[in-house]
Amino acid sequence: MEKYDFVIIGSGASGATVAEKLSSNYKVLILEKGQHLSLNEAHKSYVRTSQNKDFGKHGGVDILSGTAVGGTTLLAIANGVRAQEKELKSLGIDLKKELDEVERDLSIKKIPENMLGGRTKLFIEKAKELGYDPIIMPKMIDFKKCKSCGKCNMGCQFQAKNTSLYYIEKSLSKNAELKTNYEATKIRKNGKGFIVEGKENGRHLDIPAKNVILSAGALDTPKILNNSGIKTPKRLFTDIFVTIGGKIESSFKDEIQMACYIPFNDFLISPYYSERILKILNEKNIEVRRDNLFCIMIKIKDDPYGQVSKTYIEKSCTGKDAQRIANGVAIASKILIKSGVEKIVSTEASGAHPGGTAPIGITVDNNFRTEMGFYVCDASILPEAPGAPPVLTLMALGKKLGYNILNST
Ligand SMILES: Cc1cc2nc3c(=O)[nH]c(=O)nc-3n(C[C@H](O)[C@H](O)[C@H](O)COP(=O)(O)OP(=O)(O)OC[C@H]3O[C@@H](n4cnc5c(N)ncnc54)[C@H](O)[C@@H]3O)c2cc1C
Repeated sequence: MEKYDFVIIGSGASGATVAEKLSSNYKVLILEKGQHLSLNEAHKSYVRTSQNKDFGKHGGVDILSGTAVGGTTLLAIANGVRAQEKELKSLGIDLKKELDEVERDLSIKKIPENMLGGRTKLFIEKAKELGYDPIIMPKMIDFKKCKSCGKCNMGCQFQAKNTSLYYIEKSLSKNAELKTNYEATKIRKNGKGFIVEGKENGRHLDIPAKNVILSAGALDTPKILNNSGIKTPKRLFTDIFVTIGGKIESSFKDEIQMACYIPFNDFLISPYYSERILKILNEKNIEVRRDNLFCIMIKIKDDPYGQVSKTYIEKSCTGKDAQRIANGVAIASKILIKSGVEKIVSTEASGAHPGGTAPIGITVDNNFRTEMGFYVCDASILPEAPGAPPVLTLMALGKKLGYNILNST
């Protein structure tokens, strides 16, 4: 006899949101591989594919993610934009109501003018002189608590950043259960229901459920699907990014990162402070400090060309990706040069928005259901790279699945 109506594997952007919706009417268990960290300890949850054995042999794009309750949202820079709304609508998935709800839940607002830092203002000024029109970034931040430390990607020591922990706390208050340090490995049929196989603190534990929602993120969901007998396509994208920058004759204070951006067809550029650039310049014997560094991130909508296999993750730049990066670098360089940067260096390619490994139309239908009858809801189901911050959309997809299930029963 199953104790749970729904077992949700993964507590990140989509998993936490669907858990919150369903726990109003159902008995829900959330399984999470990581620990329950507070926001100021979130940096402990970082996972990078560059830490993997033989990383260099598998394309060389370093993919960043987070393993903890709340998933990668704990590390997010709090950018909250509507990504892929039109593309998903064309597949019959209208997210308008759900996006509105997430924006309300997480108080998503543009950064107030008086909180824009010196680098952002310089970026806006020089970009405008070149004929571009930067947009102020909407953020999931309580600006009354924010101290503009610029360290959202480490968590938040001021508890100002809104993350999936909001939905986890709401789920728990509605009697959902949460099991941490549980790594799901496989889902199998069990009569009309399912059994989730996995390990809790290293010890095998099977958990029966009437239904299962797999939300382990685009790097882990395909592994569980493959173990369960569902083949997944080699369509991994990551919104590849590089940061370029150098030294200028100014002294900047710390500030909110990616506070504005300029969107283009298949890339965006945004001011972003990078420790890696500081290190590269120091290695070249260019004396630069934290306060006189000026950098711009170029983030592209990359080709869905990569894969998660049993033993490795492979992701490289295609020729088109290289062209997209070059186009972005050309524009960002103009802004840097106009701002007074003489020697520009670049980071290696990374990616922080993995997706596409169980896409709608291939692995799941447009109700996010697999051929075995359980659901997948996370960035894996996005059919193409957003080329923009996806969290808001992934949370809206979680709500959508929640509503669909509530309305069908
Ligand atoms: C540094 C950084 C900054 C970012 N900034 C932004 C931003 O500002 N705005 C934005 O929109 N996006 C941002 N992103 C991207 C965004 O955080 C992710 O795209 C999003 O969180 C992905 O959601 P998800 O539900 O697919 O997976 P996740 O949020 O990664 O959640 C998956 C969860 O499943 C758990 N899990 C994995 N495997 C198992 C298993 N076998 N068993 C149990 N649990 C498992 C994981 O531990 C994790 O908690 C950023 C990413 C990074 C790395």
